[in-house]
Amino acid sequence: MNLHIVTRCDIITQGAIMSILKDAYDVLKDIKNLAEKVKSKPVIDKVLELQSMFFEIREENESLKKEIEKYKNIDEVNKNIKITEDGYYEVEGVPHCITCWQKDRKVISLQKPVLFGAGIGGMSFMEGYSCPVCKREY
Ligand SMILES: [Zn+2]
Repeated sequence: MNLHIVTRCDIITQGAIMSILKDAYDVLKDIKNLAEKVKSKPVIDKVLELQSMFFEIREENESLKKEIEKYKNIDEVNKNIKITEDGYYEVEGVPHCITCWQKDRKVISLQKPVLFGAGIGGMSFMEGYSCPVCKREY
């Protein structure tokens, strides 16, 4: 998914959707009042059905807004990520796993320096970090 498209759509459509929902709710209230005047049970039932559908749409819209916020944050984090020479990225000086971020959007801090066997038979060692989730070594 292209994150830039998501955030642009958000700016264009959210205001419009909120305005349409408000107008639709006003129309719904008018119809409800008219239905009560007509005193027709089938009409009132249909209006109530429509009202509950309206509330579902409004809830769905709220959850979509939250989803968009999440993607905005991801976009923001991506802009600020600077990968070090060793391949991880840092958040306030703490090393984090780039693989977990790119794959699952998980912010995983790396474990304290560990020793990796770098030579044949473990004769020489390198100091580095490891990811507790994907086990990548940096
Ligand atoms: Zn990882």
